[in-house]
Amino acid sequence: MILLLHPNTDKKSDDYQSLLNKLSQLSDVQTRVHDVEGTEQTLTEIYLLGNTSALLLNEMQDYPCVERVIRISDEYRILGRHDDEHRASSFEYNGVKFGQDTLNVFAGLCAVDNPEHVELMMKALQANDQVCTRMGAYKPRTNPYSFQGQGKDCLPWVFELAGKYGIKVVAMEITHEAHVDEINDALEKTGHPTGVMLQIGTRNTQNFELLKSVGQQTTHPVLLKRGFGITLEESINAAEYIASEGNQNVIFALRGMKTNMGDPHRNFVDFAHVPVVKRLTRMPVCIDPSHSVGTREAAPDGLLDVMHVTAQGIIAGANMVLVDFHPAPAKALVDGPQALLMEELPLFLSDVKIARDAYLKRCELMNEFKNKS
Ligand code: PEP
Ligand code: MN
Repeated sequence: MILLLHPNTDKKSDDYQSLLNKLSQLSDVQTRVHDVEGTEQTLTEIYLLGNTSALLLNEMQDYPCVERVIRISDEYRILGRHDDEHRASSFEYNGVKFGQDTLNVFAGLCAVDNPEHVELMMKALQANDQVCTRMGAYKPRTNPYSFQGQGKDCLPWVFELAGKYGIKVVAMEITHEAHVDEINDALEKTGHPTGVMLQIGTRNTQNFELLKSVGQQTTHPVLLKRGFGITLEESINAAEYIASEGNQNVIFALRGMKTNMGDPHRNFVDFAHVPVVKRLTRMPVCIDPSHSVGTREAAPDGLLDVMHVTAQGIIAGANMVLVDFHPAPAKALVDGPQALLMEELPLFLSDVKIARDAYLKRCELMNEFKNKS
């Protein structure tokens, strides 16, 4: 059961204290208090875990500080939607809104290589009104002898360049909890020129200790990639690990499943699950067309497969796109063959807009239909 308190409920008030007092007397029920900090208000949610079946909704509702009571199923207790349309499904980070009703594009380098390429990327993003990017500094590689990423040494200049070109959020994969400290140190030393969204890659979707550590910090939102060989339910439970530790600012990314059934694509594109994740949870849903498709092949219509699957995800309501670009793909140290070219950025963004407009029109059409019937 979740008790949603009125916005800005004072924790010192008699109402709040008498509610806590009542809850502490319940046997077999544990309480966890989560504060959701927004720009204008703080929302407090109290999770009642354990044997809550005997608790009466009305009794809980009668406490003056309680706005609403939701009875939740066992699954996805915090991130689950629980058939409730009104629960918050968005958050703001460094001035950028992420929600189930927004769309943010994170075009950037799969792997940071040198300042020249990073600057060319950032410059192109600014010229195209973009405030988010992806930049890989820690790369989990199949082969131990492959380039492992520039690591912490590149962080100061990557963040400074991001700030110089007005980038507000950099999505950056981490593979170890120590990387969060390294990122925080670099942000501190450079005076916080940008923000960082911590990315958990598909190889770490069920690295539970890593999930717990990014869940215990609330400075950075987390982008969790779906595990490439596990069920959707298992991956959503991985997201719930993060939320259960205290950080509810989680975005769920679809990046294709590893199976030969997807050949000749690198992974089997799973963007049909965009609406499913939005229905089951309150998380914004990201698509990664680059790691799904893995090539620059194009259809006879001239459109690259990467662009086609991007449009498919967006027309189904995706909220974020993580996409690889590179100023000189032949020189890229990781995933050059799937990177889009700098001159393709305006084309890609225009195509994204067409798909987004089509999605919004489809929603309107459905609303008209519902209002008539
Ligand atoms: C990446 O985004 O660079 C990446 C390694 O993706 P994934 O974890 O989906 O393979
Ligand atoms: Mn990659």
